[in-house]
Amino acid sequence: MNIHEYQAKSILQQYGVTVQNGIVAESPEKAVEAAKKLSLETGTKVWVVKAQIHAGGRGKGKIEGTEQRGVALAKTVDDVKIISRNLIGHQLVTIQTGAQGRKVNKVLIAEDVYYPGESDIKEFYFSILLDRSKECNVIMYSTEGGMDIEEVAAHTPEKIFKEWVDPSIGIQAFQARRIAFNLGLSGNAFKNMVLLVPKLYKAYEDSDASMIEINPLLKTSDDKVLAVDCKINIDDNALYRHHNIALMRDLGEEDPTEIEATSYDLNYVKLDGNVGCMVNGAGLAMATMDIIKLSGGEPANFLDVGGTANATRVEAAFRIIMKDPNVKAILINIFGGIVRCDRVAEGVIEAYNNIGSINIPIIVRLQGTNAEIAKDMIEKSGLKVQSAILLSEAAELVRKAVE
Ligand code: GDP
Ligand code: MN
Repeated sequence: MNIHEYQAKSILQQYGVTVQNGIVAESPEKAVEAAKKLSLETGTKVWVVKAQIHAGGRGKGKIEGTEQRGVALAKTVDDVKIISRNLIGHQLVTIQTGAQGRKVNKVLIAEDVYYPGESDIKEFYFSILLDRSKECNVIMYSTEGGMDIEEVAAHTPEKIFKEWVDPSIGIQAFQARRIAFNLGLSGNAFKNMVLLVPKLYKAYEDSDASMIEINPLLKTSDDKVLAVDCKINIDDNALYRHHNIALMRDLGEEDPTEIEATSYDLNYVKLDGNVGCMVNGAGLAMATMDIIKLSGGEPANFLDVGGTANATRVEAAFRIIMKDPNVKAILINIFGGIVRCDRVAEGVIEAYNNIGSINIPIIVRLQGTNAEIAKDMIEKSGLKVQSAILLSEAAELVRKAVE
């Protein structure tokens, strides 16, 4: 699950991480109030207005059809109002949003931490994520923060440092010192960095994040080290034990079909092709997508119905796949291990009857326990469903259906 910058910063603060302070607002009027309040609290006289969307690149992104950037400096309260008005309710287009952009519903009014005129500020890149191949967490960091880290990785990979942390041991003091040293820090900034690293690591570990990314992590002219931006991804499977984080979910930022799929416990990802697929198990789903491609089709989605493919879920899956107007055929590929194939066939037949008007070819491939019985049931049901047992047969039927 993704969360907004302001929410991510609130998590960091719980772990004692210094962040660029800010107050979130949903209207230009509230933004002005927030700016005044923030000045009383922090003494700032300059503000940064930051669009809150689940996508990065806001600083370089622009509101559709205008020159308004998604992150902008405001020197007066009036500026705060104007910028907020330009942002709220409009589509922000960044390199991560696609051409249609994302609608801005909230802005974060933040204190200016760059202290105009000072030259000895530094922008770092800092992230923590899982390195599966090393079975460790990895801290990636760089002196080249603030800009596209992908550019740095592509052209000057030597400027990205990595520090692996064994999850059973945790972050060690020498590692925090090495990070501060490699970032070229000294004096108070060095000390602050050494204190900050374990706090960030604890925030990552405690919240079951799959990633924390801070870009930029800023060294201010008075040697504070603070998070100016923050992106946190939380592992969905751990949300049940993070009630407060689960409440941060913003459904407005998610694809409506994917939200519906989650409500039925279906793992669904929409793609651009013409063959809808319904599969049990993520691995089999990937293999099925390969088979669809090999037979000349393009998968319209990834959909894992999970271990219990009962009629309700099969029906929900059907409906979700059918919402995509590009779908020209549906391939159902289920391996009956825990769930028996005749049960699945029953589910497919029931779902098919309930939905009523499915006018595109449906190819069902059931393999495993009671596969033959299932095939028989489908053939006798009188439905316009074609059934196959071998994957090669299914692929051939898909090829015919989309040619
Ligand atoms: P992103 O573009 O979506 O990653 O948004 P960021 O939160 O990283 O902000 C983009 C850029 O805005 C940063 O790289 C900074 O250069 C700039 N910025 C952010 N906060 C401040 C601030 O307090 N003062 C000034 N002058 N610039 C800021
Ligand atoms: Mn950023």
